[in-house]
Amino acid sequence: MKITVETKLYGIIGHPIKHSISPDIHNFLFNHFHMNAVYVAFDVEPHMLKYTVEGLKALKIQGCNITLPYKEKIMDYIDEIDEEARIIGAVNTIKLERGNIKGYNTDGRGFIKSLKKYAPDIRERKMAVIGAGGAAKAIIYALLKENASVVVLNRTYEKAVKLREKFKNIEVYPLSHKEKLKDAEIVINATSCGLNKEDGLLFSPSILKEDAIFYELIYHETPLQYETKKRGIKTIDGKDMLIEQALISFYIWTGKRASSNQLKEMFK
Ligand code: NAP
Repeated sequence: MKITVETKLYGIIGHPIKHSISPDIHNFLFNHFHMNAVYVAFDVEPHMLKYTVEGLKALKIQGCNITLPYKEKIMDYIDEIDEEARIIGAVNTIKLERGNIKGYNTDGRGFIKSLKKYAPDIRERKMAVIGAGGAAKAIIYALLKENASVVVLNRTYEKAVKLREKFKNIEVYPLSHKEKLKDAEIVINATSCGLNKEDGLLFSPSILKEDAIFYELIYHETPLQYETKKRGIKTIDGKDMLIEQALISFYIWTGKRASSNQLKEMFK
């Protein structure tokens, strides 16, 4: 693509950012749709977040993804927040709209879209979400919207209790209550445990039902996912959700829809 005076700029804001594959995804999509636009990664130091948002407006950067550790903090600096993101309490996508920056959250919808490929009807099905951070909140919101039954386990129990103030229909437990995973039909790891090779297993896969599904939000295969698969349990990895949430962000920015199959070609 030739960069011209008309080239529109998009990006991702996080810290650190060097492992992000979002630039690959969105630049692939811009090329696919023959759009004069580029997507770059911005590694923003915490004390610069506020000025970054002002800079985005000044430079008319059209849209950005927001990733760790800023999905909650960014809400202090943007002009408008869409209702879904406000209820979830986290923003992963921002868009310049008539000079103002509006925040959205596409994680929950991306998660459900990817999950439904494996479990088309999740109404009243028993879900266990491990984690109570930004990703967990988006997923819990989306699961409740689908009328699933949700149990949440978190290492810091107080954070899970706080979540119940927001989402009244969930049950919450400390992570030590692993027996709560026994009945779950779908178990979701929404923690960062497994990101580092030295992280231990969050739970023993032997506790899961044989026909359970294990959804690992982390993009690469974790030891827990490996061990779960080894027991013959169906597993899903975070790449599916990453792709689906990216496609929704892309649609918010451009009004163009692409299919996840087209993007999967990119990862081969
Ligand atoms: P976050 O807001 O920082 O929350 C982190 C969560 O992980 C907290 O619940 C924390 O528990 C828990 N945790 C961290 N280390 C742990 C450990 N060693 N043992 C048990 N629990 C631990 O992060 P986030 O934004 O929710 O992201 C969570 C994960 O989801 C990350 O790995 C991220 O890469 C992934 N993610 C994937 C996608 C995707 O598209 N696939 C999208 C978003 C996020 P405490 O409350 O006790 O600290």
